[in-house]
Amino acid sequence: MPSPIRAPRGIKDIIPPDAFRFEKVLKEAEEILELGGFQKILLPLFESAALFSRSIGGATDIVEKEMYTFSDKGGDLFALRPEGTASLLRAAIEHHLADPGRIVRLSYSGPMFRHERPQAGRLRQFHQLGGEILGPLTPSEDVDLIALIYKMAGAFSIPSWTLLLNNMGCPDCRPAYREILVEYLKKHQQDLCATCHHRTLVNPLRVLDCKIPSCQIVLEAAPRITDFLCDKSRLHFLEVKSGLEALEIPYTLSHRLVRGLDYYTETTFEFVSDALGAQSTWAAGGRYDGLCQELGGPDIPGFGFAAGIERLWLLREKAGTLPVLPSPPVWLTVFPLLQEARPSALRLVQEMRNLSIPTTGYFGSGKIKSAFRQAERDRSRFLAFIGEDELASGTVQVKNLGTGEQISYGLKEWNRIAQEIQKTVLPS
Ligand code: ATP
Ligand code: MG
Repeated sequence: MPSPIRAPRGIKDIIPPDAFRFEKVLKEAEEILELGGFQKILLPLFESAALFSRSIGGATDIVEKEMYTFSDKGGDLFALRPEGTASLLRAAIEHHLADPGRIVRLSYSGPMFRHERPQAGRLRQFHQLGGEILGPLTPSEDVDLIALIYKMAGAFSIPSWTLLLNNMGCPDCRPAYREILVEYLKKHQQDLCATCHHRTLVNPLRVLDCKIPSCQIVLEAAPRITDFLCDKSRLHFLEVKSGLEALEIPYTLSHRLVRGLDYYTETTFEFVSDALGAQSTWAAGGRYDGLCQELGGPDIPGFGFAAGIERLWLLREKAGTLPVLPSPPVWLTVFPLLQEARPSALRLVQEMRNLSIPTTGYFGSGKIKSAFRQAERDRSRFLAFIGEDELASGTVQVKNLGTGEQISYGLKEWNRIAQEIQKTVLPS
């Protein structure tokens, strides 16, 4: 026998009844974005690989190691999307959705793909919900979007979360800081890992993000970007902080929060939770004022975030706030006890569905015992069966599986049957 083919490593099926709840976890988060005036955009699962290397940046984990790239039969190079912002900006430019003179709020959701080491809360296909604000932004838009994620934390009772905040400067002040940082990193080279050495040369700010404990000691004492901000960035940072304070949203400053993507400027933030272990970030984002232009569009600032739905799920599971399942999924199971009863059973199934009763039929015929077993497996509330006697008299037996009460109906008394079931399953 050939060995079974399994799902690729790091790719997870979401099976019933979790699939229902997973979609609900996403939907409930989307509803909060809708409250904030975000409009949904449906984006493709793959794009030209250049879109991501140009926007995310060549010397990043995503582009260096994590992207699933492939060339199609025409020889063009594509990539499964590792994130949504680049696609959204591409689409916004292509369809003239963004405008330097007015603000638009767009959201997206769906699977993302990154070739990472799979572990709890880290998959190779995972799901994100993201929102982007494009247009003539003030620092208050940064705060307004962070406030929506704060609202999610409250609505879903996210356990022990912290909002980490930083400002990464702008093209005016970052280059000078970069030089000071490189000088410091070179001085401490002997205490840093090989990846840090490489990044010191190609993307020094990313060194600050290193997770290796011995590197972290060196980096904690590194010069801080927030001490080198120009007036514009300093005021931006101040206004974001005072906006959060005005809304009583607690935050913690984190000078090493540079995020894994190159396109960020000014505000960066992460919502983390102790309850997630090593994969602690459940939502993250920041300001990207140069990205639109970088992608060949007009000069339009942007601010956005993405939340990991798998991590949101884990946190809601811990908090005991996962959505409840609809009960029961099937209200009526129909079972012909002999082959001759199949047409009547089939008809009954369709009529019940027409009357909005979730109904399944098992047409294999057999003993009444297997009918009960099927109904139990469906968690069905009622069982209808048609045997020899019923067929002869044009009737159907309908049994309430909760109370054991059994009533005989005429085969075409669909409305009466439906009313009886509805009354029991959805008591008013
Ligand atoms: P991390 O530091 O955990 O790798 P990241 O900085 O790469 O995160 P982003 O690109 O900002 O993550 O993505 C936003 C959110 O998407 C993350 O905060 C996280 O919740 C989720 N996420 C990112 N990568 C994965 C993954 N491989 N599996 C599951 N969720 C993920
Ligand atoms: Mg990552």
